[in-house]
Amino acid sequence: MIPRTLFDADLEGFRDSVRKFFEQEAAPYHSQWEKDGHVSRELWSKAGELGFLCPTMPEEYGGVGADFRYSAVVMEEISRLGLSGIGFPLHSDIVGPYILHYGNEEQKQHYLPKLISGEMVGAIAMTEPGAGSDLQGVKTTAIKKDDHYLLNGSKTFITNGQLCDLVVVVAKTDPSEGAKGTSLFLVEANAEGFEKGQNLEKVGMKAQDTSELFFQDVKLPLNSLLGGREGNGFFQLMQELPQERLLVALTAMSACEAAFDWTVTYVKERKAFGKPIAAFQNTRFKLAELKADITAGRVFTDRCLELHLQKKLDVPTAAMLKQWTTDLQCKVMDECVQLHGGYGYMWEYPIARAWADSRVQRIYAGTNEIMKEIVARSI
Ligand SMILES: Cc1cc2nc3c(=O)[nH]c(=O)nc-3n(C[C@H](O)[C@H](O)[C@H](O)COP(=O)(O)OP(=O)(O)OC[C@H]3O[C@@H](n4cnc5c(N)ncnc54)[C@H](O)[C@@H]3O)c2cc1C
Repeated sequence: MIPRTLFDADLEGFRDSVRKFFEQEAAPYHSQWEKDGHVSRELWSKAGELGFLCPTMPEEYGGVGADFRYSAVVMEEISRLGLSGIGFPLHSDIVGPYILHYGNEEQKQHYLPKLISGEMVGAIAMTEPGAGSDLQGVKTTAIKKDDHYLLNGSKTFITNGQLCDLVVVVAKTDPSEGAKGTSLFLVEANAEGFEKGQNLEKVGMKAQDTSELFFQDVKLPLNSLLGGREGNGFFQLMQELPQERLLVALTAMSACEAAFDWTVTYVKERKAFGKPIAAFQNTRFKLAELKADITAGRVFTDRCLELHLQKKLDVPTAAMLKQWTTDLQCKVMDECVQLHGGYGYMWEYPIARAWADSRVQRIYAGTNEIMKEIVARSI
């Protein structure tokens, strides 16, 4: 094994408490949450009390001011335990940073403490029925009137869509422009004219609430515009994408490692033709190949994490990482299901859930085809 070098004793101690928390407070309830279509609201408050939400937020807003490795630990443990319903990474490491990096002081003072405590659940709404990869085609508008903006449009596939209290909404402040006419708004879920649509039924991640959102003449105070300047939305989105893609890679690698471990245990126990499945050369070679792939993925991901901590992770490298690790995740899950035989296809087995959960990793946070476009442009 190549040892991980970025996580010291303090971080491993933090990892132990995070793991215990999820083992006690989430794992026993996750199957029920899959039926409910969302995790419990209580989980958010409990995690907030323990400092597991938004760990990187500064102390002045009620956070603990930790570095991104602490966030990485939280998302790795969620992924390792297969708790795909828990939308903390998006809340803590995507929504929180938008407000911290681009919000004005009033916006930060108002929202960050609530995101850190779990009083508010955050979401980000970019995708629309007619615009996913091509975000310049967003049709939602936020048009300035005298003392407010008027928000109209609809979004789809929004993570934390049922539980959210605060949504970062991508809207056009100048519909005649593409990127230059795009702005981000902080929209509270109780605003008049804001409706949450149905909780969408998905192939995997069944305890994750993913929803449509509708805005009809929602009156937004002028101070809802993130950062106070119109037309900055695309720039803000581009700046935050490397962290979002690193986040996906970190969850991909932890999921791969967990699936590998379950599979090794399984093939040692399961017998066919009078011997453990693990004794067949095919099994041994498959496991050897997967082990090499997972080791390569882990080293690549940790190196990108290290670059990110040094603020040096560039857009093409993050895109390469997201594409490569999530393709690997799908390959690993598929091979591990195969080694489980029919049991691998049964929902009660974690490998079946992990296989179903993995598929979307190649689609969201920018599809893997878009990742290749970004990399190709940089060559
Ligand atoms: C479970 C889930 C959770 C999600 N969470 C969120 C969320 O919280 N917030 C949010 O805003 N969105 C979210 N999304 C949406 C997600 O980001 C989009 O689905 C994704 O960006 C792709 O957009 P699309 O679905 O419109 O596909 P399309 O853009 O229509 O793409 C369809 C296909 O065409 C390919 N394609 C498109 N353009 C090109 C090109 N230029 N070159 C080559 N191939 C191309 C794509 O790669 C894809 O294979 C989520 C989606 C899912 C499924």
